[in-house]
Amino acid sequence: MHTLTVAQLMQGLRDKQFSSTEVTQCLLQRIGELDAQYNSFITVDADRALAQARAADQRLEQGQTTPLTGIPVAHKDIFCTEGVRTSCGSRMLDNFAPPYDATVIKQFHDAGAVVLGKTNMDEFAMGSSNESSFYGAVRNPWDTGRVPGGSSGGSAAAVAACLAPAATGTDTGGSIRQPAALCGITGLKPTYGRVSRLGMIAFASSLDQGGPMARSAEDCALLLNAMAGHDPLDSTSAEAPVPNYTEHLGDSLEGLRVGLPREYFSEGLDAATGECIQTALKELEARGATLVDVSLPHTQLTVPTYYIIAPAEASTNLSRFDGVRYGHRCDDPKDLHDLYTRTREEGFGDEVKRRILVGTYALSAGYYDAYYKKAQQVRRLIKQDFTQCFDEVDILAGPTTPGPAFGLGEKSDDPVSMYLEDIYTLAVNLAGLPAMSVPAGFVGGLPVGLQLIGRHFDESRLLNVAHQYQQHTDWHLQRPDSAAGGSN
Ligand code: GLN
Repeated sequence: MHTLTVAQLMQGLRDKQFSSTEVTQCLLQRIGELDAQYNSFITVDADRALAQARAADQRLEQGQTTPLTGIPVAHKDIFCTEGVRTSCGSRMLDNFAPPYDATVIKQFHDAGAVVLGKTNMDEFAMGSSNESSFYGAVRNPWDTGRVPGGSSGGSAAAVAACLAPAATGTDTGGSIRQPAALCGITGLKPTYGRVSRLGMIAFASSLDQGGPMARSAEDCALLLNAMAGHDPLDSTSAEAPVPNYTEHLGDSLEGLRVGLPREYFSEGLDAATGECIQTALKELEARGATLVDVSLPHTQLTVPTYYIIAPAEASTNLSRFDGVRYGHRCDDPKDLHDLYTRTREEGFGDEVKRRILVGTYALSAGYYDAYYKKAQQVRRLIKQDFTQCFDEVDILAGPTTPGPAFGLGEKSDDPVSMYLEDIYTLAVNLAGLPAMSVPAGFVGGLPVGLQLIGRHFDESRLLNVAHQYQQHTDWHLQRPDSAAGGSN
């Protein structure tokens, strides 16, 4: 039961092969048995999950089903859940139980899904390895000595280890796609504005976007159907109509033009990873696609540009954590200044402090023009690169990451080498585009991800290409040995 996809679970529930309570119980049991080795969950409220599952079973019994009725979904601990701790991976919010649900959580609730638990993540979603969490690092189910990627590493590990059929993540600079790639699952970062950010704790507001992480493109489509749509309470949420994302999964790839950005296949890309990507591209060609050489000339500037803009936005977003209204508060403050400084000193970890320092510096008088304004100008050029490519091709394809999962601790003392891990993912967020990572092979027993990038609001096309690819490959069906034990 634990290896079934969302689509298979939906079918099984409708056919009464099993109940939502049975599925939820099985997964809760697996989490209890296996998660000590992955650390993928921060909070699991079994009673609440089972109560939701029982309610779903009643609705199934009465035939009042909505698409995801009874499907257990794990949520990144960045989405506010009413009455349930929402920590964002930080000591600052360790004691925070929000008074409301994020729109995404509401949408899953309205679609009938069960909240399985809240997943571990890099502190405030800052990181590419899930080592910056206050709750400890998450371990990659394919090799527990390696990182699962970040910042949605808990969600990726939980799905890979068959502790959850699907999960939510957020992607500010790659945090859905990169962990999806390193854990061998499928992840979709939607167009900026496609999914509501209300109640999704803000990291960098002009880049953050929530999306689905699952075992297949079809499952991502089913989840996106629930998540996408205009939210009047989020002024950056788009009013564009929401298509049915499963409708075009079966379309042929005949005539599809796939652009291969030259800069994504140059030095810096691990050779064996590059070979997996080439093999995947041949598969797309065999399905009727044409491969076209294209260029994204400002690729080298994406890391410095992102690492000015994201910290700048983070430094202002995180100024709200001051010990006054909610979250951590230091003991016995002497005065207001002491309250602020000690609360923030104690509540934030090193990476978050580093970002606040960089961001505050980049925004300060005298440096604003040289850094922040310049970064915004380069951001425009990066966006234009994509616009030009999309005149010629329908989608872009390349690697999600420069190589497979690295060892725990390997890059944690070298922030710049950690930031370089994001070289192929950051530009997508700077341009607001949708993109996916799809399992595309293994290097030394570790998964590799194929990245697909689409035009604004063209998620349907990405899902179609990924689904067709998955109809002819079985990389997404492979399971790590470590997940073989446990209840099923
Ligand atoms: N790795 C990037 C960072 O550390 C992206 C994180 C994200 O997408 N949330 O900022």
